[in-house]
Amino acid sequence: MSKAGTINVQTENIFPIIKKFLYSDNEIFLRELVSNAVDATQKLKALARMGEVTGDLGDLKIEIELDASAKTITIKDKGIGMTADEVEKYITQIAFSGAEEFVNTYKDKVDKNVVIGHFGLGFYSAFMVAKKVELFSLSHKAGSKAVHWTCDGSPSYEIEEISNRTQRGTNVVLHIADDCAEYLEQSKIQGLLTKYGKFLPVEIKFGTKKDWIDTDEKDEKGEVKRKEVEVDNIINNPNPAWTKKPADLKDEDYESFYRELYPMQFDKPLFHIHLNVDYPFNLTGILYFPKLSNKLEMPKDRIQLYCNQVFVTDNVEHVVPDFLTLLRGVIDSPDIPLNVSRSYLQADAQVKKIATHITKKVADKLEELYKKDRTEFEAKWDDIRLFVQYGMISDEKFYDKLSKCALLKTTDSKYYTFEEFEAAVSALQTDKDKNKIYLYASNMDEQHAYIDAAKARGYSVLLMDSILDAHYINHLESKLKETRFVRVDSDTVDKLIKKDDTTVSKLSEDQQNTLKPMVEALLNKDQYTVHMEALSEQDAPMMITRPEFMRRMKDMNQLGGGGGGFNFYGSMPDMYQMVVNTNHPLIGKALDESDSEKQNALLKQMSDLALLAQGLLKGEALTQFVKRSVSLIES
Ligand code: ADP
Repeated sequence: MSKAGTINVQTENIFPIIKKFLYSDNEIFLRELVSNAVDATQKLKALARMGEVTGDLGDLKIEIELDASAKTITIKDKGIGMTADEVEKYITQIAFSGAEEFVNTYKDKVDKNVVIGHFGLGFYSAFMVAKKVELFSLSHKAGSKAVHWTCDGSPSYEIEEISNRTQRGTNVVLHIADDCAEYLEQSKIQGLLTKYGKFLPVEIKFGTKKDWIDTDEKDEKGEVKRKEVEVDNIINNPNPAWTKKPADLKDEDYESFYRELYPMQFDKPLFHIHLNVDYPFNLTGILYFPKLSNKLEMPKDRIQLYCNQVFVTDNVEHVVPDFLTLLRGVIDSPDIPLNVSRSYLQADAQVKKIATHITKKVADKLEELYKKDRTEFEAKWDDIRLFVQYGMISDEKFYDKLSKCALLKTTDSKYYTFEEFEAAVSALQTDKDKNKIYLYASNMDEQHAYIDAAKARGYSVLLMDSILDAHYINHLESKLKETRFVRVDSDTVDKLIKKDDTTVSKLSEDQQNTLKPMVEALLNKDQYTVHMEALSEQDAPMMITRPEFMRRMKDMNQLGGGGGGFNFYGSMPDMYQMVVNTNHPLIGKALDESDSEKQNALLKQMSDLALLAQGLLKGEALTQFVKRSVSLIES
């Protein structure tokens, strides 16, 4: 008995629309059809568990067959199958109404990227690549008759009972359209199956492959002979680590799963977090902390989002907070709506809850590591700090949690928590206004002299050389009470932390007023301002400093912070201070020099030395300096 019908869709011909709309994404047809096959198989297993299906279920492998000469792809499952009534209901009504709804929702949207997964399009997506779709099915229900359904892409279809099918389950045959011939290539299908089906819960077979196995025989040397055999080419690992109980997994298992996810990744992950929630939403997954470089580039190996072990995307932006996208691993949740725009996704209450949960878990894990093994935590700190800083700057709750275990590292490679550091330095590093002054260096080599000078005073100098530190420091200043961060080279060591006791100057006011213009005349006015300071005799006669606020403006500006669209500070030249130490004997000597040529050479020499120490002496000026030095040695 054969029968013809018309698919009940409002839009006269939705095939061309949907095809055009989804063109760039048409590869998802395979994911959709294989997912249906997996669902049908899982349903059968569930019925068997409930005793509604009895007897041996047999091999439940799903097979994908490619026949390039017949131009077909066939998806075969041995799942629950469908009766003729069910085909009419599920395929021609439900599947097609889902497709129509999809078109109505998205036909006006120009941006294809707004749709994450096109889930819900399901069976219908076959028509994105096929000019004709056939379906053969035999239901698991006792006494069912097999059914054959055909649709050529117009809203009409044919359905008939058939007698030559005895295998329970469904075959879907796609007759690939001429403009989709790429899907008839073995490597293309292998690639798609691996992309979307790597962790599907039912074995997926795609052709066969050659493999070597041991035989019972031995060769002359007594070694076991091996022979080449043809074996099933299985695409997937049906039981990926994230679906197992954490108690059943060892560290090695987590590591080998990491390799499974990122075969090209050679670094070991630092640690992992196993996510497992079933109320009020469903979420499983494993997140890994990779070793981060001091760069904030979009990582190549990204977190992968799955829905019941079906790969959806590796772009989890808007699903988790930005800073978490620096992690790697897998998130699997059927509760993340997949057929909505990204902006909607961000506002979705469920997604928010999921994001909050993940953030909390990550913070808990860091706290746990800190509490369990401080030494280990310190050893890993340099590799995770960028992530932690990013999180603390962007997420209030994350800050609150991590502020108890985030570390500050000194230039001597000692690590302190915020609380520990405050206790360690506040006696010596509190200024006259009761502010704690946290000195820091951003480059150990360049600021070496300043770090040394500060350490000689008994101060601790933090090493803040991450690309986020400019922002991080601002953030910490807004959080830590009465605390200021000051870079070691922003002033002379005596003035870094302003106390009441000031050293008296050996030069009188008049003498200072004579000296100042003489030094000014040696320097470019647009770049240097000259300051007289009564420092210790042991300090250098002249030195360069760069006021904290100016440098910060510039740093922030370079990172694209600082608000506003104007690049005001970026266009400013670098400004420095030339500090003249009025207590240094050489300064006194220069002032007393009666030969004005000699006097000038002496001052120039000292000023050049200060510039040289900062790498600011270049070109002609450097050549002159070298010549002058030689003649000074000679004289
Ligand atoms: P969805 O899978 O989202 O429900 P589909 O359009 O993919 O939507 O499929 C519609 C329905 O058709 C499914 O819910 C299922 O009942 C039925 N179906 C599709 N493919 C199969 C299959 N291979 N075996 C059994 N039933 C199927």
